[in-house]
Amino acid sequence: MADRESLLINWLVYPAVGHALEAFKHAQGYLDVNQELDVHVLLPPTPTTTLAPKGITVHSIDLAHPAHDIGRLPREWDYVITDSRIRRLESRDGDLLPARTAADSHFRARVRAGVAPTFEEMFHELEEGPVLPYRRNSPLRLVSPSLEADPSRPAWSGLNVCILPAGSTTLQSPSLSAWRNICEEITSNHDDVTFHFTGRSGDKGNKLTRTLFGRGPATTSTAVNRHAIVALAAELRNAHVWWDCGFAQQLALISACDVLIAPHTGFAFLAGALGTPWLTLSCCRWPEYFFDPTPFHSIFPSCPSYPSLGDGTDCTLGVGQHRCLADLEDRGDEIANATLRLLQPDTTYEQCVMRHLKSVDEHPRGERFYFFDGRDSLMGHHVRPAVRA
Ligand SMILES: [Zn+2]
Repeated sequence: MADRESLLINWLVYPAVGHALEAFKHAQGYLDVNQELDVHVLLPPTPTTTLAPKGITVHSIDLAHPAHDIGRLPREWDYVITDSRIRRLESRDGDLLPARTAADSHFRARVRAGVAPTFEEMFHELEEGPVLPYRRNSPLRLVSPSLEADPSRPAWSGLNVCILPAGSTTLQSPSLSAWRNICEEITSNHDDVTFHFTGRSGDKGNKLTRTLFGRGPATTSTAVNRHAIVALAAELRNAHVWWDCGFAQQLALISACDVLIAPHTGFAFLAGALGTPWLTLSCCRWPEYFFDPTPFHSIFPSCPSYPSLGDGTDCTLGVGQHRCLADLEDRGDEIANATLRLLQPDTTYEQCVMRHLKSVDEHPRGERFYFFDGRDSLMGHHVRPAVRA
C-alpha cells in the first residue's frame, strides 16, 4: 500500500445534489487514469454522498461546525485539489467561509496542491494543468436502488414519463398550466403513457439550508405545492404522484422511467448518470453544462437574459413574471415532440450533443454557455496530462 498516492478533493460548496455529482465526476476523472490512487472527496452532508462511485471515499463535513469534522481527517495528502468556486467565495457566502478556513489551515499537500480545472475552464482560460493526469468528462454510472413494489400502482407498461415539476426555487417552476399542456400534448401523440410526478416538500427544520441561502429553504426541496400537483395528476388519464417518497425511491423512479422532464436543476443531473434521458426546460441562471453519455435535449427559453450566469435580471430577481418560464405554456407541442424524439431507439447521445452545440452556436448569447471540463470534452473524454510544478 505504500506505493499508493492519495488525492483529497475539497468540494465544500453549497449542499446540493448537482454539486455532489460534479465532485464525483471530477474524482472519477482522476480515478479512471491513475491506477494507484486513493481518491477522497469532502462534501457537505446530503443524501447524494451515499452515491459515491466505487473507489471514491466521501467525507461529509458539517458546514456549521467544519473544524471538528475536518480535524478528524489526516493532515497530509499527496495531492489536494480545491474547487475553484471555494477560492472565489465572498462575504455574502459567509456560511461557507469557515469550511474554507478550516480546510486551508488543516490540509497539506506533500506533492502538489491545485484548483479543480473544471470551473476554471467554465469561466476562464485554464493556465495550469491538473495535478495528476485527468480524464475529462468521465462518465458517471450511478447504480439505482430498485423501486419498491406498490400494489396500489398498476404494473408498468407503455411509456413512463417522470416529471420533476420544479427546481428548488420559483425561478425554476413552470406553471401548472404549462405542465398540463405538455402532458396533454404527449398523451395526444402516444397511446399508452403514464406520468410520474415527484418532488419533496420544504423542510422547515433544515436550518443549515435556510441559513446558507437566507431566502427560505432551498436546495433540497421542490418549489411547488404538493396539493396542486395531486390535483393536476387527477386531471390526467394516467398519472401518479410520488411526493416525499425519499431520495432512494426518487432515484429508482427516475431510473425506471423512460425519460425525465424537468427544469434546469441540479437534482435532474442524476438522470443522465442513471441512464435516463433528460428533457430540460432551460431557465436562468445557468445553461446545461453537465452531461453523461445519455440522450438529452434542452428547450431554450426566449428570455433575453438567458443564460444570465448569476447576473441580476428580471428572472433572477423575481421581478414580475419569470420570463424564462413565461412562454412554456405555448410550447407544449414543441416539448412533446422533443420528448418523443428523445425516446426514439436510434437517438444517440452523440446526436444530442451535435444538435445541442448547433443550438448553442445559433443562440444570441451563445458565448455565455459553458461545459463541465470544456466543450471539447463532450464527445472525447480525452486525458489531460498533469503539469508538474
Ligand atoms: Zn430568464
